[in-house]
Amino acid sequence: CGIVGYIGHRESYPILINGLHRLEYRGYDSAGVALIDSGSNLNIYKSKGKVNDLESVCSSRNISGSVGIAHTRWATHGEPNDINAHPHVGNASNIAMVHNGTIENYAVLKEFLINNGYTFQSETDTEVLVCLIEHIHTSNNCSLYEATRQALQRVVGAFAIAVIDRRNPDTVICARRSSPLAIGLGDDEFFMASDASPIIEYTNRIIYLDDDQIAIIRRGTAIEVFNLDNEAVSPSVQQIDLDI
Ligand code: GLU
Repeated sequence: CGIVGYIGHRESYPILINGLHRLEYRGYDSAGVALIDSGSNLNIYKSKGKVNDLESVCSSRNISGSVGIAHTRWATHGEPNDINAHPHVGNASNIAMVHNGTIENYAVLKEFLINNGYTFQSETDTEVLVCLIEHIHTSNNCSLYEATRQALQRVVGAFAIAVIDRRNPDTVICARRSSPLAIGLGDDEFFMASDASPIIEYTNRIIYLDDDQIAIIRRGTAIEVFNLDNEAVSPSVQQIDLDI
């Protein structure tokens, strides 16, 4: 039900956890984070329950990474439990994704992936989408952006997503349809969230993605935004003033 993401020069974990707390008002049943550390390891921690429960899971670990994605889940496909909590990964555990919304045609896509040798750990529609992205990425040998774009063209339903790949820790891919997604433009750093409340303490320059837009967010450089037909669009940057 809530998404937070960060890529930049700071440790992402406190920013992600802070952001999840800011989104708690939206309601949720579980929470999780995925970070890529300086050794290109993808570390995922998730928990049924509150953000505080997730913090307890994380407290005994040495968590680091300047790129990360985080999620609070409101279950639609699969009961609330640790396995169904996001982030979800592809079968090779390189690509991780958080997702708000529902993939209405997930059953058809899941069958297609099972026929292509895929296995699933969770009952979620989300794991189907991340596996579809992985399948296109591997079989077409294309970029994560291109694989995500093509996967989303095959999706019926609503989504706000953030996707990372441990083999390329300098990029986050984001997209949305029907579910909101905001991107905060900091000083050589970017913040992603379901609304402005997790972002506004760091920057007041915000891009709201429109439906069927997909953004490539590269560490330290500008954002590129496209529609799902791969046409570049120029996003408008809004100056937000919120009392926090
Ligand atoms: N449909 C997804 C799930 O059940 C995402 C739900 C949400 O928006 O939190 O895991």
